Amino acid sequence: MKKYNIKNNKKISNLLLRNYVLATLIMFLIFLVFFFGAMAMWITVYMPINNLISAENSKLVAENIIKDNYKDIDVTEILKVKGWIEIVDTDFNVTYTSGNPKINRSKYTKDEFYNKIINANYDLFTNDQYIYNIAYNSKKDFTLIVYLPNDNYFNSSIKKPTIGVRNFFGIAITLYLALFILIMIIYTKITSRNLTTPLKELMRGVKNIYKGDYSTRIQLKSQNEFGQLRDAFNGMAEKIEEERKLKEKSEETKRRLIMDISHDLKNPLASIRGYADLLVKNPDISKENKIKYLNIIEHNSIRVNDLITDLFELSKFESIDFNLELKTIDICEFLREVIADYIPSMDEKNIEYNFYIPNNSIYLTIDSKHMHRAVSNLITNSIKYNSEGIKLNISVEDLEECVLLVIEDNGIGIPKELELDIFNPFVRVDSSRNSKSGGTGLGLAITKTIIEKHGGKIALESDKNQGCKFIITLNK
Ligand code: ADP
Repeated sequence: MKKYNIKNNKKISNLLLRNYVLATLIMFLIFLVFFFGAMAMWITVYMPINNLISAENSKLVAENIIKDNYKDIDVTEILKVKGWIEIVDTDFNVTYTSGNPKINRSKYTKDEFYNKIINANYDLFTNDQYIYNIAYNSKKDFTLIVYLPNDNYFNSSIKKPTIGVRNFFGIAITLYLALFILIMIIYTKITSRNLTTPLKELMRGVKNIYKGDYSTRIQLKSQNEFGQLRDAFNGMAEKIEEERKLKEKSEETKRRLIMDISHDLKNPLASIRGYADLLVKNPDISKENKIKYLNIIEHNSIRVNDLITDLFELSKFESIDFNLELKTIDICEFLREVIADYIPSMDEKNIEYNFYIPNNSIYLTIDSKHMHRAVSNLITNSIKYNSEGIKLNISVEDLEECVLLVIEDNGIGIPKELELDIFNPFVRVDSSRNSKSGGTGLGLAITKTIIEKHGGKIALESDKNQGCKFIITLNK
């Protein structure tokens, strides 16, 4: 069975955290791009004083053209764009103008003048007809104001932005919000897909199991809790599938057993009934025939009895009430006693027997009554199924952790393909062997069950005409 690892370190919370951090990081990056983008735009486009004092426009800037003697001020560039200059003294009187003044003014009020100074750099985007910039000559104590016509100036010198400041920030914020919502939607979609895909796959597996398809397995690459669930599910499905196969096999074995029992009981019972009927209906039957029929009835009754006894024996081991009556005994002495029972039968069939049993004692804890039955079955089989004059060896080998018991003959053997199956109830090499010998086909099944109940193992090495070698391993 495949081992399913149901311990994993990656967690769903890590996945959610990863997605969340990623989305936040993207949002933050976009915010930075917008923030610095807007700042850059603001500085380059919306602070046009920078443009104004650039080399190209330097002759339009008061600071660049101011002189100690205001009459020397070069106004040629200003004239070209139809602007003019004003010189204002400390009492706010306009003492001098040059160019084409469109506003004839002789004096500023104090407020007017200071307002002009404060707004000098920022009043460029007003809708006024004229824009201005200012410079102060501290040596001569006068102020120079350069007036430039709004249209002309912008059309010729400055790229006027097509959207206003408010609109610019409005659009930037709206765009950012739209991107924020988009990223949130993508984040939700990806996160929910990370959760729903494994759930759907798990659901598919559960539905298949519900429909009875136990071969279904969940295919998921996740290493988090979903991965653990996948491994637990697949392990469970494998176990159910295995149990189901075992159940089907055991049901099949039971069905076959019942069929075999009925078949094996049917023949001797039919024979008993037939001869009994014959005797009842023919009272004048000869004494000779009567004895013959009664012998057949007796033989078949013994057969039925043997079969039922063996079946009872075998089913007894399956019962939950069954317990071995264990005692620690010397297995060598035990074997000598079992073998002694069969010496007359072996001599009768001219069997050449050899026993390799150590003289020292080997102690094992066994149920001697049942073990006697297990070993007897093997010895009687060698005698029963083989012709006269075969060799039979029985040996005991004392190993470190177990004792090996080998019962080996050089008789007709069992075909190799039956080496495992022969231990199942009613499995025989051919039925003629059994009808002659009167075996029930349960002997080896009983032997195997007894050995296994002792925690041991039995194996057969055999082939047709190569004899049989039964090896029993009993743990110490
Ligand atoms: P039974 O109880 O009828 O003897 P077993 O389960 O003991 O049945 O044996 C199953 C079959 O294995 C027998 O029918 C026989 O054909 C074969 N078999 C068992 N032992 C030997 C053996 N030592 N030599 C040849 N055939 C054997």
